[in-house]
Amino acid sequence: MTIDRRKFLKYGAGAGVVGLAGFAAPGLALGQIMPKGGPRVIVVGGGWGGATAAKYIRMQDPAIEVILIEPEPVFRSCPISNWVIGGLKTMADITMSYDALARRHGVKVIQDSVIAIEPDAKRVRTFGGDIEYDRLVVSPGISFIYDDIANLEFNTDIFPAAWKAGPETQQLRDELQAMEDGGTVVLSIPLGPFRCPPGPYERTSLIADYLKRNKPRSKIIVLDANQKIISKGKMFKAAWDDLYDGIIDYRPDNKVIGVDRDTRTLMTDFDEIRADVANVIPPQRANNLLGVSGLRPAGKRWAPVNPVTYESTVHADIHITGDSTDATTVGKVPKSGFIANSMGKVAAGAVVALMNGREPPRPSMANTCYSLVSAEEAISVTAVYDLDDATGKMAAIEGAKGLSPGRSRLTAQNAEDWATAIWSDMLG
Ligand SMILES: Cc1cc2nc3c(=O)[nH]c(=O)nc-3n(C[C@H](O)[C@H](O)[C@H](O)COP(=O)(O)OP(=O)(O)OC[C@H]3O[C@@H](n4cnc5c(N)ncnc54)[C@H](O)[C@@H]3O)c2cc1C
Repeated sequence: MTIDRRKFLKYGAGAGVVGLAGFAAPGLALGQIMPKGGPRVIVVGGGWGGATAAKYIRMQDPAIEVILIEPEPVFRSCPISNWVIGGLKTMADITMSYDALARRHGVKVIQDSVIAIEPDAKRVRTFGGDIEYDRLVVSPGISFIYDDIANLEFNTDIFPAAWKAGPETQQLRDELQAMEDGGTVVLSIPLGPFRCPPGPYERTSLIADYLKRNKPRSKIIVLDANQKIISKGKMFKAAWDDLYDGIIDYRPDNKVIGVDRDTRTLMTDFDEIRADVANVIPPQRANNLLGVSGLRPAGKRWAPVNPVTYESTVHADIHITGDSTDATTVGKVPKSGFIANSMGKVAAGAVVALMNGREPPRPSMANTCYSLVSAEEAISVTAVYDLDDATGKMAAIEGAKGLSPGRSRLTAQNAEDWATAIWSDMLG
């Protein structure tokens, strides 16, 4: 079997359901590159978990060689990408370079994709060749599950998800701008768990805000497979009632089961809804790379880990961070960038300790999820997590969690400051 890099990115690393196992067929004739001299960690994926882990391993032990493998030439941030769709920011505002990781921290950044992980040989396979590791950190994010939505997989040009910041983010923005006043936007939300629980509701708010200002005869229909808004529900509802009466048509318990390209229609069990602009967010699971390497066990959606070290419970010496991890093994933490950043730091500390023959430190993690409800105001939810010795999992500390007191301009300012600070923490 032969497969080129472009097809792999489309069907393998990015979105698809094609098994990666075939990509590692002997016909590819990969050879070893970058022979190992001293202690080495390979990090797979330069997103929120991976970039953080790579930098923090180097900061804590410069004797460890860190190789970061990432297919994209630049980092594009999902947090703040809804602001691009709403017209408050541009793609340039959420696009950053990996240069500082290399220049300041000595991380070796390779633009390539991992096509197979071989735990027994302690080796990854890339298009450029095979690379050996002592420990591996894997943070490749999510893959979409297309099985439950008929005709979606090969029609994502009409029904984009924009759930990985990139060209689809810009596409959705352009389609909103091009839409006639009086048009209908349809956004569909899958059953949880999925990446960024408040994300679809923030997006709904910002699209409604844009329509209110620019196309007041238009509306957005939200088809939510869940029974209700699954994050910050009361605050989103209050903002929608106050600000977007007649613009947001929110329909809970409405699972999309199919799409029709020719008529731009979304099907639920009850209805067929025609869209002028369609945004279908499919159900999600740990990235397919984890499935084919056995790190996500068959029949499971997420990858089980040890919450102290983020080491896989399936294969030794492989740590998994970010959205791919199974919250039933970590503890009740959301799939957020802030949590992925926390996991990257915890995993980095554990990797450095274990490679130096020390006990891994006790983990501590934090999360704040900000959501704009309009161009001016935001809401937030915060929690600090500690290891619960009774369950052995991470748990929110009582008294160190809660919601913002209503929506405010100050919280919107905090959201922007948070993004600037955490981008610098990961990549600066
Ligand atoms: C619209 C939206 C808004 C959001 N807003 C917020 C927010 O306000 N706050 C917040 O905390 N979180 C937010 N999130 C969630 C946040 O983006 C994710 O939780 C976070 O990106 C998860 O980090 P990760 O490391 O698991 O994956 P990612 O950040 O997606 O990184 C995965 C990386 O792995 C790479 N990769 C994939 N396959 C391979 C392979 N085979 N080989 C090598 N590399 C590979 C990818 O190219 C990518 O760069 C939002 C998400 C969305 C979609």
